[in-house]
Amino acid sequence: MQIDILTIFPDYFREAFDYGIIRRARAASLVEIKAHDLRSWTSDKHKMVDDRPFGGGDGMVLKPEPIFAAVESLTGAKRGADVPSNKRVVLLSPQGKQFTQSTAAEFAQSEQLVLVCGRYEGVDERVAEALVTDEVSIGDYVLSGGEPAALVVIDAVVRLIPGALGSETSATTESFSEGLLDYPHYTRPPDFEGLKVPEVLLTGHHAEIAKWRSKAAEEKTKKNRPDLLKE
Ligand code: SAM
Repeated sequence: MQIDILTIFPDYFREAFDYGIIRRARAASLVEIKAHDLRSWTSDKHKMVDDRPFGGGDGMVLKPEPIFAAVESLTGAKRGADVPSNKRVVLLSPQGKQFTQSTAAEFAQSEQLVLVCGRYEGVDERVAEALVTDEVSIGDYVLSGGEPAALVVIDAVVRLIPGALGSETSATTESFSEGLLDYPHYTRPPDFEGLKVPEVLLTGHHAEIAKWRSKAAEEKTKKNRPDLLKE
């Protein structure tokens, strides 16, 4: 898989992909990740990527021209409608659809993922209207830029590329994969200052442990995310 990040701060990502699962996936050539400077696709001498908003108001808006040019040079497509089905062009935006584990699984199927990071007041709306295939938000809060959101999306997607996790089954037992949160995990010591590990986990009785874990996952979901149970 090829992941291209469009940003005005490519150095933001300098070491971000040098750790853990992403580093291993890159080393195994399962994924290649590049952060591109949006200014490379400007044609004026000041390399302007932003301008004042039409209609007035605070702040600056990222201009459409460099973003359209960048996406065309990276994907070969001029518009979202022309993007081949094995590629996704994603605008990170608080106004986007909620990014979830199932979005991550969908993106993990593609051969190329282009992530467009906004800044300032945001991105000229024609990018959302005509250029991207998806507009996604990582949550109901406003970040200063799309870069941290791109990191979140990349991390969630890369771990779902077949072969990226040590064990193929790990991702299927994690939170959200079965509509529930993960079950609680414990390690040594069995008694930490009077805080005890549930007895059943120390018995080695696999069927009982599986039963306990499934009940504990349900209870944790009920307590912290009852909305998942409704879905
Ligand atoms: N004016 C915009 C609004 O109120 O919806 C906020 C713009 S924000 C300060 C600048 C950029 O950060 C956005 O263009 C987007 O790329 C990114 N961003 C902020 N919050 C985000 C979120 N929850 N999910 C994804 N991207 C986000």
